[in-house]
Formats: sequence, structure tokens, C-alpha cells
Amino acid sequence: MDYAALLGAEPGEAVQPTTVEEITAVIARADAEGKSVIPWGGGTAQDYGYLPRRCDILLDLSRLSRIIAHEPGDMTVTVEAGATLAQVQQTLAQHGQFLPLDPPDADKATIGGILATNAFGPSRPGYGTARDWLIGLKVVDAKGRVVKGGGKVVKNVTGYDLPKLHVGALGTLGVIVEATFKLAPLPEASETLSYQFAAPADSTGFLSSVHATLSPTRMILLDAAATPEQAVSAENIVFVTFEGQREVVGSAAARARDRLDAGSSASAPLPPEFASGLTDFPTDASPPVMLRLSGCASGVYERHEGMRQSGCKSVRSLPSAGVTDVAVRADEDAESVTARVIQWAKEHETPIALLKAPASLRRNNEVWWPLPPGFALMRRMKETLDPNGTLNPGRFIGKL
Ligand SMILES: Cc1cc2nc3c(=O)[nH]c(=O)nc-3n(C[C@H](O)[C@H](O)[C@H](O)COP(=O)(O)OP(=O)(O)OC[C@H]3O[C@@H](n4cnc5c(N)ncnc54)[C@H](O)[C@@H]3O)c2cc1C
Repeated sequence: MDYAALLGAEPGEAVQPTTVEEITAVIARADAEGKSVIPWGGGTAQDYGYLPRRCDILLDLSRLSRIIAHEPGDMTVTVEAGATLAQVQQTLAQHGQFLPLDPPDADKATIGGILATNAFGPSRPGYGTARDWLIGLKVVDAKGRVVKGGGKVVKNVTGYDLPKLHVGALGTLGVIVEATFKLAPLPEASETLSYQFAAPADSTGFLSSVHATLSPTRMILLDAAATPEQAVSAENIVFVTFEGQREVVGSAAARARDRLDAGSSASAPLPPEFASGLTDFPTDASPPVMLRLSGCASGVYERHEGMRQSGCKSVRSLPSAGVTDVAVRADEDAESVTARVIQWAKEHETPIALLKAPASLRRNNEVWWPLPPGFALMRRMKETLDPNGTLNPGRFIGKL
């Protein structure tokens, strides 16, 4: 593993605990000795965020990976943070249930990492984010103390919702060691429409109307300039998925198809083998850089078009989440595309984040721009909960 490329430095030591007690001891020792702790799940998103200010102890959670309890009747599961999403799904599927999150690399991405990044993907319109499914959390704080919040039943929150403080905090306020989730039944049916449109305005018009009236589970607008291996060019492509009960799915998909037939646009269904190769984004396995533009959902098409016009070759928007992702491909100049996208975002006052980038780019750019309105509060929170800067120091928004 090239730790220096991900973290900017080789860690001083690596530990691989199997119990919560070992984790409390590691963190208490680090805090007392002025060392930093870098939590490590599956390592799939370690190139997200600023470089840590210090990189002393790599806390590898992969051996803290038990499924503690699955209660199919209550539709809840409690798991240790190092369990991978694939491992959890396998257990749940035996009872016709699942945790509806869709990160790439589900066989590597861990529950702790997914919560620490509050990751979400194309299923957000149907299922929300990890935060929406979380009902209880066990965390080790920066002093090495175990803190619990929420519980193991669905209705349990009274007072401050402490667990959610740690969701999306990138491991800067505590190390997640255990989580309890509510679950969903596996959908009875699923149908995906994959179409290519002739004109951008038609694809966006179709997506807006489906989003407003047909409750899709997933919606994607994609432009990925053709590579020599592809038979069809991949501009102006739309994927819409409906999931749930068989009749509801059938009827929503039929109504969506009617709209395509009735519309003025020239649109054509994609060949199935081609469509399946494009649903993962980015389509090339390991782009050096990914950027995310966000903002109000209604502005998403303008952002998508802005990226297209800026010459980006691989652009995906998730209209209902309001985000547009740009993948910089291996055949592009990563630095100049990144600079161009950041410039567009700033000129259009559009929040931007570097989702994935090599150490040099994260050292020389703002990973998140602009600072969010609540930043002063975030800083006070970090200073109060981690006064010595033990946990992932410098990694989060504003180098907290
Ligand atoms: C290119 C790209 C595309 C993505 N697309 C999607 C998508 O479509 N849908 C989606 O849902 N997600 C997406 N993600 C998010 C990604 O899949 C998740 O962030 C990933 O699941 C993280 O899990 P991990 O175990 O690999 O974490 P790691 O990479 O090991 O860690 C990620 C961060 O979390 C911290 N961390 C890890 N474990 C813990 C813990 N137990 N306690 C506290 N902090 C911890 C780490 O210190 C680090 O800062 C994408 C990410 C990338 C880079």
C-alpha cells in the first residue's frame, strides 16, 4: 500500500485491534503522548480530505468485523465498524432484507468508513444516505472513552441525536466501533430504463418530470466521451430505476416509457451490454481525480452543462441529490482539468469538493470550497471533543 500517496506520509506504526478495549487503549496512549490516530477501514476513500497534519498510528479496523446481532423481526442489525458492506448484505439477504446503501467496492468499504464519509450514490432518491438508516452508534472518543448514543430499536431518540454528529465527520471526532441500523426488505422487482437522448434539454426535461411524479429509486444523467472500445458514444445518457412491489414498478416504468414515446425528443434505448458497463461511475476503474459540484437540485442541469462545456470528458449528475461528479480520466491532464473545474465552480458560486485526488493536489487546493456557514461551530466542536488534535488532525473541512 502506498500510504504516502494517500496520507502524504508513511504512518509511524500500524495496529490491528480485534476488540473495543484495545482501541480505547491505543487512543488513550496516543492522546497522552501527543500522537495522531488515523482510522482506516477498507482504504477506498483515504484520498478524500486534506492530508493529516501528523500520521503516527494507523488504526486498521478490518479485524473488528463481527455481525453482533441481526433481528429480522425488528428489521435491525448491529455490526462492528470493520465489517464490509458486502459481508453485512450477505447475512441480511438470507432473511430477505438489506441495508440500502450503494458505495462502489462494497466488498472493501466498511461500515465505519461509510458512516465517517456519509457516502451516498445513485440510490439516494429512493433510500437516502447512511445517516437515514442509522439508529445507534458506539464510538471511542479522542480520550479513549467509549461513548454510546441511540439504541438498538427503531424508536429510541430523545434529546440530542449524538450518533449523527459522527456521521460525515471523517473520523475527526471519534472512532466508530459499532453501529445499529434499521433495514429495508429486498425489493420484489427492479427495472431500469437506459436511454440515450439527442438533445440535452430533452434528457433533463424527461428526468425532471420522472423525478417530480414517479418516485424513482435511482436517476443518473451521464456524459462519458467515448473510448475506442465502446460501440456507442456515451453522451446524454439517462438511467432511471424503479424498485419495490412488482405492480408498482411495472406501472411506473410503463408511465416513464409513455413519456419518452410522447416527447419531442429523439431518444433510443441503449444496448443492454453497453448500459450495464456504464452504471458504475466512473467507468474507468481508477481515475486519478474526482470532483463533486453541489447545490440546489434545480441547478443540477446547469452544473452538468457547465462541466460539459468546460470540456470534461466524464460527467455524472444525480439530479435528485443535486450533485454533479466529474471524473478526470487517466488520458487527461489531471491538474489542468481540476483547475478548470474549480475555476468554474468559484465563478458560479457553486460548492465544490475534491472527492478523490493524489496528495499533491490535496496539498495545493482547497478540498472543500467554500467553508460552510456553520464552520465556526464545527471548529469549536473539534476543539472541545479533541483538544489535542489526536484523531485525523487537519483532515476535515477547513483543515480541522
Ligand atoms: C471515487 C469514489 C466514488 C464514490 N462513490 C460512491 C457512491 O456512489 N455511493 C456511495 O455510497 N459512496 C461512494 N463513495 C464513498 C466511498 O465508497 C465510501 O466513502 C467508502 O465506503 C469508505 O469506506 P472505507 O472502509 O473504505 O473507508 P476508508 O477509506 O478506510 O476511510 C474513509 C475515511 O473514514 C475514516 N474512517 C474509516 N473508518 C472509520 C471508523 N471506523 N471510524 C471513524 N472514521 C473512520 C478514515 O479515517 C477516512 O478519513 C465514493 C468514493 C470514491 C472515492
